[in-house]
Amino acid sequence: MRTTLIQHHVNGQTSAGVSGQTQNVFNPATGQVTGQVALANHADVDSAVSAASAAFPAWADTPPIRRARVMFRFLELLNAHKDELARAITLEHGKVFTDAQGEVARGIDIVEFACGIPQLLKGDYTEQVSTGIDNWTVRQPLGVVAGITPFNFPVMVPMWMFPLAIAAGNTFILKPSPIDAGPSLMMADLLKQAGLPDGVFNVVQGDKTSVEALIEHQDVKALSFVGSSPIANLIYERGAHHGKRVQALGGAKNHMVVMPDADLDKAVDALIGAGYGSAGERCMAISVAVLVGDVADKIMPRLAERTRALKIKNGLELDAEMGPIVTAQAHQRITGYIDKGVEEGAELVVDGRDFDASATGEGCAEGFWMGGSLFDHVTQEMTIYKEEIFGPVLVCVRAPDIATAIRLIDDHEFGNGVSCFTESGSVAREFGRRIQVGMVGINVPIPVPMAWHGFGGWKRSLFGDTHAYGEEGVRFYTKQKSIMQRWSDSIDAGAEFVMPTAK
Ligand code: NAD
Repeated sequence: MRTTLIQHHVNGQTSAGVSGQTQNVFNPATGQVTGQVALANHADVDSAVSAASAAFPAWADTPPIRRARVMFRFLELLNAHKDELARAITLEHGKVFTDAQGEVARGIDIVEFACGIPQLLKGDYTEQVSTGIDNWTVRQPLGVVAGITPFNFPVMVPMWMFPLAIAAGNTFILKPSPIDAGPSLMMADLLKQAGLPDGVFNVVQGDKTSVEALIEHQDVKALSFVGSSPIANLIYERGAHHGKRVQALGGAKNHMVVMPDADLDKAVDALIGAGYGSAGERCMAISVAVLVGDVADKIMPRLAERTRALKIKNGLELDAEMGPIVTAQAHQRITGYIDKGVEEGAELVVDGRDFDASATGEGCAEGFWMGGSLFDHVTQEMTIYKEEIFGPVLVCVRAPDIATAIRLIDDHEFGNGVSCFTESGSVAREFGRRIQVGMVGINVPIPVPMAWHGFGGWKRSLFGDTHAYGEEGVRFYTKQKSIMQRWSDSIDAGAEFVMPTAK
């Protein structure tokens, strides 16, 4: 079979780069190699940074409303090509097409927000801070900024970053996951068609070598990272060491508390959708159900039945509910966690390791398939409770009351998302106020904030001070300048040796 090389996009051109290194790209549904992705070395990264540096002065000087017009054209093109993007995601990631459409739509939300950049960049002005003196604040772009993104949202997560970074006047280098880098070039092409000047948006394909080069390059002023916590931590520390701004979003273990007064039909639907959607490979997936009081006895049989009945097949089929696991290595890691859960004494109610792949679709026998797994009687000490599995494995913990549920969640090292299903307003209110987690859903299993609110977890789910996108995103990609001004007819004669105060 003929395969394609997924290349870099530098200064408006695709290029294979100079490293000569590549990595295979797979279709996870078939297990077949569908292409190779180039892996940049330091010289390839240098070329991209040079292009982005050269493009920066003119782009930063372009009036924000004209930068916004490019974003508006990009938005139109995205809407025209959204299903092509979704299909490309399914082919390299494996997630079902309808879910990939949702991913693209949530990315488009951020582009819509970035179209409002003239308003978002509007500064503050104070007239007459002292006699004859005015003071105002502007936000200016940083320069060349880079985004390093994970495999699980190859369109949406880059769009958490580059629309705002570019609209704010920066030039951008995207370093996508090499696992599913194809859509990055489609986005680059659409930006070019939208009239974005060459060099403003560049894509460097690669692995950790390219990330190291971006961290060390003195002309890269800021790094946005999304991925697993150990790498997020490393990038935060190394980036800061090299004098960069860093926002590094990490891993997760999102709990969903089900209170005895909850609507249990809706809670079961929510756990199945949020636990197994995208094969659990979402940073906002629900991976722990905390079942309070007698809830476990009531819903465990229903959860088991629904887990066994999941429609697991090639994501291109429109009735598929769950696709394959992204890679053979991830499949092995998840299987290892299930083995460990059994070894450590949790009750494996549904075993996804036994999955029969014969109904997954034509040509899919060699795909990276696995069924949904469901554990009951999981405790705080178990590995499957403590660590991020990042697969279709839902672990259920039984808790006597809400106080125990909250303690469990607060004790966990991650604090990305959390959800509480209840019909009690006061339980919901207290839960939302007290829980030590960055994004909270009340009767909402996956509370991914809208474009203008910003996304970010707490604890080891985020390293850095600002959340992704929203107004925090604008702040991250700009630096504040304060200007104080007066004119000669209000300047007193003579040198002033005392600290100036308002007169
Ligand atoms: P990953 O950490 O393996 O990779 C993320 C990026 O870092 C990729 O571009 C990868 O090429 C690069 N990378 C990998 N190893 C590196 C190293 N040693 N040095 C430098 N760079 C390196 O993550 P992944 O498997 O692609 O994605 C899944 C993870 O991302 C999960 O932990 C998930 O929770 C997390 N995630 C978090 C969020 C969030 O918003 N908090 C969103 C999506 C995914």
